[in-house]
Amino acid sequence: MSIYNKSSPAYQRLKKMTRDLIRKKRRELRVKFVQERSSRCELCGFSDIRALEIHHLKKKNYFKEGRNQYQTLRLIPWDQLQLLCANCHLILENEERFVNV
Ligand SMILES: [Zn+2]
Repeated sequence: MSIYNKSSPAYQRLKKMTRDLIRKKRRELRVKFVQERSSRCELCGFSDIRALEIHHLKKKNYFKEGRNQYQTLRLIPWDQLQLLCANCHLILENEERFVNV
């Protein structure tokens, strides 16, 4: 069976390895970004990393082309990203949505 046959075990293994590698790279990149921003929400200073999220200031330009989170985090200049806690992120996203309606 050829590796190019999508139903072959070899193809499925390769697909899983690629997916796992992308997840690992994304996690590493996220940790690096969080550390670079002192592991704190840039608006309120909250510091529990479980609730810290990455806000994309110009997200529409990057997600439009179907990129995954890893590709987005790798390609976007980090000055276009903010580290926010879940509360600040939700509030900001709501405000942006309200302004753009
Ligand atoms: Zn916050």
